Amino acid sequence: MGKKQFKAESKRLLDLMINSIYTNKEIFLREIISNASDAIDKLWYQSLTDDSVGLDRDEYRIRIYINKDERTITVSDNGIGMTMAEAESNLGVIAKSGSNKFKSEIDSAQAEDVSIIGQFGVGFYSAFMVADKVTVLTKKFGEEKGVKWESKGVDGYTVEEAEKYRSGTDVIMHIKEDTDEEIYGSYLEVWKLKALIKKYSDYVRWPIVMDITRTEKQPTEEKDKDGNHVMQNVTVTAPETVNSMIPIWQRSKADVSDADCAEWYKETNRDQNDPAVTLRINAEGSISYKALLFVPQKEIDSGISGATKHKGLKLYCNGVLIMDECEKLLHDYFEFVRGVVDSPDLSLNISREILQHNRQLKVIGQNLEKKIKGELETMMRDDRPKYEEFWKNFGIHIKCGVCDEYGRYTDFLKDLLIFSTGEESMVSLKEYADNMPESQPAIYFCSADTIKHAMDLPQCEDVRNRGYEILYLTSPIDETVLTTVKSIDGKPFVNIVTDDLGFMTDEEKKEAQEKSAESKEIFEFMRDSIADENLKIVMFSSKLVSSACCLTSAPGGMTLEMEKYFRNAPNEEMRKLRANRILEVNGEHRAFKAIQEAYDADDKEKAAELSKILYVQAELLAGLEIEDIASYTELVTKLF
Ligand code: ADP
Repeated sequence: MGKKQFKAESKRLLDLMINSIYTNKEIFLREIISNASDAIDKLWYQSLTDDSVGLDRDEYRIRIYINKDERTITVSDNGIGMTMAEAESNLGVIAKSGSNKFKSEIDSAQAEDVSIIGQFGVGFYSAFMVADKVTVLTKKFGEEKGVKWESKGVDGYTVEEAEKYRSGTDVIMHIKEDTDEEIYGSYLEVWKLKALIKKYSDYVRWPIVMDITRTEKQPTEEKDKDGNHVMQNVTVTAPETVNSMIPIWQRSKADVSDADCAEWYKETNRDQNDPAVTLRINAEGSISYKALLFVPQKEIDSGISGATKHKGLKLYCNGVLIMDECEKLLHDYFEFVRGVVDSPDLSLNISREILQHNRQLKVIGQNLEKKIKGELETMMRDDRPKYEEFWKNFGIHIKCGVCDEYGRYTDFLKDLLIFSTGEESMVSLKEYADNMPESQPAIYFCSADTIKHAMDLPQCEDVRNRGYEILYLTSPIDETVLTTVKSIDGKPFVNIVTDDLGFMTDEEKKEAQEKSAESKEIFEFMRDSIADENLKIVMFSSKLVSSACCLTSAPGGMTLEMEKYFRNAPNEEMRKLRANRILEVNGEHRAFKAIQEAYDADDKEKAAELSKILYVQAELLAGLEIEDIASYTELVTKLF
């Protein structure tokens, strides 16, 4: 029988395992047990619709045997098993996709960073951290023949037909000889494996059974002076279930600390970080359920195989998994939430289609969402830096939720929104409204690519001078969010770049219009000399204090922000889109007065040049790129 070669990536990983750069070798047992448990899940599911499986729920188990003489640990399950093709493709190939990313991550990962193993769904290979030979004897449920797969590591593996009585898989690990650094033999001690199971696999849903030897007192034939049998110590070996099997979410708060939950979260979600929020819910009422939910600190990397790509909460009925990714429970805006929901009121073999319309599920979902929101609000109130960190990572989900389905969830979500009011400060809309002087007519915002650029917009000065806060928006979706929220406490959102700020009385507006009308001639001259086909109007500004000019987009059409956004569009036509512009000038500023003087003195050339320079200033302040830098610098240098 010829030896087959591992794929290149598998080899690389195996090499890492064999040379054991990981200090935490003991996790191999967790990985192998977890595979066994998954295999039992699969057969058990099949049994729901397939009578030929013939096993009762309490007949499934994971058996662990130790053979000290042969130095083997065997993890045996009566789960679904593998066909020869499956054994080859599942155990012979790892990192089925994106192997390059995998390799580079392994290379850059810190040597002792164990969690990365799990992230890539390569758990089986961890056996090679403690074993120099691994034999897998497996039989797929329903197949006649079994399969024996065997490997001593990097030089390849063999696979052949084999006799196996019942379906399931035995993973036989031949434990390495002890070295100066590592006493591998300790894994052959019952107490050691038992402790590892307690530590890593206590909540596994199926019994993990080991032969445990105990000393018992047993009566002998001999009797003492009172006629009682004399007792003697006898060692008895019997199979015992070593894991509690009670899922963590079904245990009382007194039994399970938040730290235990965090540990469990990290293992089950393959996240290196503790969760930012842990939420334990025990609801009793018309619908009872327990839930254990987590908000991660950051988006979890789903790894190259996408193995941990997550699409919803896990749904259980009395500790039995009904659905691994129940997308219907929470809306997309909370899709970053991880965890489990367990309700005895749900039917076990409920199908995906039925679940979609399940009323109980809807009620549970609504309640969970309220709790999640409440928890986030508490975080926002009590630990602002943590909330801002959360916002940085997951705020976009909430923002999208606000805009989704024509604002159907806006009311529910708007209290979670925060926006910048400076480079270091963020406020919720409620906080903004609470800080607002009574006379303030609107809630002001402006957009730019960075907060600094937004703060530097000339239009901000007047608003700030009046003591009003401005929301500085930097994400393309932000304006849509505010448009969807519409108003707070009856006050509308006003874009200080494009909208009327509401500071002028009708009288003042009329006056300003008249003033602009008087200067119609010079404005038209300026517009024509600037000669930008998108520049539609030049006029006096009512928004400027110390700045000379600013650029706004003509009402109704595309805005300057959209134009900037489209600059990066994949489509060339879109990249060329330009907003129609209005150049607003400060009539009191020296710059405009200089243009006016040149114009009045009939020095049209100078007036035109100064107008062009002013226009570029306005473009720069609006965060736009200058198209013809050479002409601009030439104009400026002429001023010297
Ligand atoms: P993962 O479990 O993350 O997919 P592993 O490397 O641990 O990655 O296992 C690879 C695959 O081998 C599993 O997905 C499964 O299909 C198969 N496998 C491993 N152990 C068993 C087992 N005991 N019974 C059946 N299939 C198994």
